[in-house]
Amino acid sequence: MKDGKNLDSHGTEINVTPIKEREKSIHVNSGECGMNMNCDGNSVSGSVSQRACVYCGARVVLNPITDAYHIVHGPIGCASYTWDIRGSLSSGEEIYRNSFSTDLREKDIIFGGEKKLTEAIKEIVEQNNPKLIFVYSTCIVGVIGDDTQAVCRQAEKDYGIRVIPVFSPGFAGNKSMGYKAACNALISLMGEEKQEKVEGINFLGDFNLSGEMWMLTNYLKNLGINIISKITGDASYDEIIKAPSATLNIVQCAGSMTFLAKKMEELYDIPFVKISFIGVEDTIQSIRTIVDVIGDEEMKEKAEKFIEEMFAKTDKELAYYREKLKGKKAAINVGGAFKAISLIKQFNDLGIQTVMVGTQTGKKDDYEIIRSISDEGTIILDDTNPYEIEKFVKQTEADILVGGVKERPLAYKLGLAFVDHNHERKHPLTGFEGAINFAREVHESVNNPVWKFIKQEKMKGDDNYVKELCELECESM
Ligand code: SF4
Repeated sequence: MKDGKNLDSHGTEINVTPIKEREKSIHVNSGECGMNMNCDGNSVSGSVSQRACVYCGARVVLNPITDAYHIVHGPIGCASYTWDIRGSLSSGEEIYRNSFSTDLREKDIIFGGEKKLTEAIKEIVEQNNPKLIFVYSTCIVGVIGDDTQAVCRQAEKDYGIRVIPVFSPGFAGNKSMGYKAACNALISLMGEEKQEKVEGINFLGDFNLSGEMWMLTNYLKNLGINIISKITGDASYDEIIKAPSATLNIVQCAGSMTFLAKKMEELYDIPFVKISFIGVEDTIQSIRTIVDVIGDEEMKEKAEKFIEEMFAKTDKELAYYREKLKGKKAAINVGGAFKAISLIKQFNDLGIQTVMVGTQTGKKDDYEIIRSISDEGTIILDDTNPYEIEKFVKQTEADILVGGVKERPLAYKLGLAFVDHNHERKHPLTGFEGAINFAREVHESVNNPVWKFIKQEKMKGDDNYVKELCELECESM
């Protein structure tokens, strides 16, 4: 930003968006502090935000609890929209991979849905003998005013199990509000009482996508760290209710879990540290942070040895990909800022320049960190939309887009390489092993010959088409 104008790295003004209200959520890194990003608010009407709704935010946080039953109180669409949306793995129960719904219809909207909810809870209890049920309120439930709290309270009395309401009508705010609703539900599950302390940590904000929680907790267990509770990747009811006894919380997904960490500090005197196991640099830093806070000298030594060994192995493999990826340009649009920050560092390490960074739930401080570690001219966005993503990846000539399920079709339509760093992926992208997987995936996507053939399609009708087609065909032979 210069003289109130958004300028790119060549000093050209960027005509940012047709929606005036979005202008303060789009910045170009000018190299100076004080970007003052407009963020952490509701989406601008008409912007077709890439962000999910409040209910979806709550569901993604709670869904990985493997033995919980999730009743979506609303029309069937809300339940199917979020069915099995995370690749969270389980070492035990599989019930969390189902989706239960009260399937509200017109009659229920007119006369109220409480009766149907009571019946749904009863049916689950009679057929499955659950320990824990979450009941999510969706938009229409917020409108008709069903008293889900009263229904859940009564069910707890009737069946002697935990039935926890999650206040999450889609219109109640944005995705961050859903995270908060999920954190409140977790506090309700843990209770507000302090517990006798046990030496050990809770791991907050990892959802065990492709078994990442297992891999990371193994790092920590090998250093002698006791894991009390995993929240919420591969978690269970019995494990979560022990969480208040821990002596430390480590927080990976800060966007969704900082609220819970603060609450747990307040209620149970558990201090917390923010960490990120995305990329080699942040993985090393996180291990050091955790052992430093624990303060055990023997553990620190063990950690340094582990880091040295893993770094040497990882760095050797990454050298191959650095060679292949040097000079490429990347665009990022992810949910949480912690992930975006780690990804910029990871791309730097691979010799890739980050030219666009967006997050759905970043805060002002996060954007200042993003600005400080990205290059001048990088476009930084809060709660962006498909129009802006398309505009900026074209303008910055990005070679690859990193995002989630909603960014994937955009990238492919634009003929752009893509890496899924969100819910659906099938291999770990955290820790040392994840850093290698990530580099491999970026390489395989960016350097895939398919982009040449897409280029051929785009060139049809162009005078140079025949000439370039011959060249491409010769290259691919
Ligand atoms: S916005 Fe409302 S109706 Fe749509 S999925 Fe979310 S809760 Fe359901």
